[in-house]
Amino acid sequence: MQVIDSHVHLYPPDLNADPAAWAALRGETHWAKLCTRRRKDGTAVQGFPSVEELLREMDRAGVERAVLLGWYWEQAETCAWQNRFYGRCVQQHPDRLLAYATLHPGAGHWPTLGEMHRARDEGLVGIGELSPHSQGYGVDDPVLREVLTLAADWKMPVNFHVTDPAGRDYPGRVATPLGDFARLAQAFPKTKFTLAHWGGLLPLVDREARELSNLYYDTAASPLLYESDIWGRFAAALPPGRVLFGSDYPLNVYPQLAVAPEMTRLIAEARAAGAGDGVMRENALRLMTR
Ligand SMILES: [Zn+2]
Repeated sequence: MQVIDSHVHLYPPDLNADPAAWAALRGETHWAKLCTRRRKDGTAVQGFPSVEELLREMDRAGVERAVLLGWYWEQAETCAWQNRFYGRCVQQHPDRLLAYATLHPGAGHWPTLGEMHRARDEGLVGIGELSPHSQGYGVDDPVLREVLTLAADWKMPVNFHVTDPAGRDYPGRVATPLGDFARLAQAFPKTKFTLAHWGGLLPLVDREARELSNLYYDTAASPLLYESDIWGRFAAALPPGRVLFGSDYPLNVYPQLAVAPEMTRLIAEARAAGAGDGVMRENALRLMTR
């Protein structure tokens, strides 16, 4: 059975050529802190593959399709720039790649909604990865609320970056209070939310959130955050259909075991921990085609 990887990041060649210099020029210091960092042993936290290299990694790992998520940029111009790149990626590889549009509601009503229209016209199918807490607007921001309403009308899922309040610290980590996401899901019942990184364990610690049927969770960066019993804990706590396999490629999620990012090992971990075709493929298809 083929796999859909619901959480992948990709960048244009001009960023890949010199990520740190690019970030300094564009005013994307938070991204640089997270993504151009080296670990204590000198290895890079992530790679910067081209679209062709991503497709080759997908072939190696048996990944039929990848969902490209935008980054939660600090500048609205960078969001638009990445959305245009993703538009070209999905037009060139419609059988292998899907993409979400990223936005900065701080840009204001018309720029943000206009960008959302343009991204949809270019074939993007969701919104995210957003992080109000990192991008500097509130979860009650009026423009964000318009985005969430329009996303429901257009049946576009919205992906939020979530950190576990009990998780370990890492450079550039920004706290994202879990109650904020539960409140958004309650306030926008027709909007489908995917909370990245197992939603910071929200459904395990909050019974009400567990019952919200518009909350989905992806598994991005799982080995960096949790032991492999996490797959079973979510399977036991949630009704079927609510977890989507996502790797966070090209982040190296097994730095102790691998020198470069790859998808195969996490797929093997997921399957060994009991993840079935729902988590590995069908839940993503249902979320994005409904
Ligand atoms: Zn991500």
